[in-house]
Amino acid sequence: MFMHNKRLQYTVRVAEPNPALASLLLEQFGGPDGELAAAMRYFTQGLAEDDPGRKDMLLDIATEELSHLEVIGSIVAMLNKGVKGALSEAAMEEADLYMAINAGGDSHTQSLLYGGGPSLTNSSGVPWTAAYIDSRGDPTCDLRSNIAAESRAKIIYERLINITDDPGIKDALGFLMTREVAHQKSFEKALYSIADNFPPGKLPGVEAYANLYVNTSQGEGDATGPWNSGAQWQKLDDIAGNLPVDGGDGQASVGLDAAEAETGEAMKARLGSNLAQDPVTGVELGAGPGAGRVQDRDLGGASDIAQARQMAAAMTPPAQEQ
Ligand code: MN
Ligand code: MN
Repeated sequence: MFMHNKRLQYTVRVAEPNPALASLLLEQFGGPDGELAAAMRYFTQGLAEDDPGRKDMLLDIATEELSHLEVIGSIVAMLNKGVKGALSEAAMEEADLYMAINAGGDSHTQSLLYGGGPSLTNSSGVPWTAAYIDSRGDPTCDLRSNIAAESRAKIIYERLINITDDPGIKDALGFLMTREVAHQKSFEKALYSIADNFPPGKLPGVEAYANLYVNTSQGEGDATGPWNSGAQWQKLDDIAGNLPVDGGDGQASVGLDAAEAETGEAMKARLGSNLAQDPVTGVELGAGPGAGRVQDRDLGGASDIAQARQMAAAMTPPAQEQ
């Protein structure tokens, strides 16, 4: 069960209201790399985890991420406090209030729609979505994904720290940023505590393709590095000469029963291109200056366009009498 502690994990001291900054900080409240996404990612992974140690770690970190959600959400609420009061109580002249809620970013939406409370959106107002969570239920996949998520969260906090000069907010964001560093370390240790963690899963890779580097971009700027050269790599430069890599015919095929094959052939015949004709199309009917050539055939006279119009006129049925 969850219990709520009345104190935050880290003290929030905001110098003064700033709705535009509040709007930017929502990135870490309801954005893809924010605290709600982190909490839900580790919480759902933890519920399904069978290894008791990993389960405990995932639920510990998920719970801490909820505590971070509380900290960042409290900062947002403090930053919006001035405008929230003024808007609720109509404490300013209309023009001044108009200016106050349009402080920048999507601060007007934060004030009008959400009343200054932290919204489950990113900094542009895009609603939080479960699609931010990419867990696959395999610890060697999910721990790698968690490591990447923590590194992304660290970078977003760093950017946010760089755009505010409020010392209290800088301090709290520095704490949140540092906790993501600590989480990344725990996830790295947990991943490498699994003896065979690469490649993920039980099936080995196919030997012939496991050390192959396919050099699909050649010419100027073609580079070598430890990712494609050295004893462990076979670099394939002659790509066209080695297609397909499996030695087959490189075509796609499927086994169909007689009825499926017959239906497929009928459709192919019905929709086939007739290469013997150069049909008149809507392009000719509407062709004006800038149309370029619209006919290949020699119509024996004036410009292509004029000829096409004549052809079109000849083809147009006379108007029906009403
Ligand atoms: Mn966090
Ligand atoms: Mn974290």
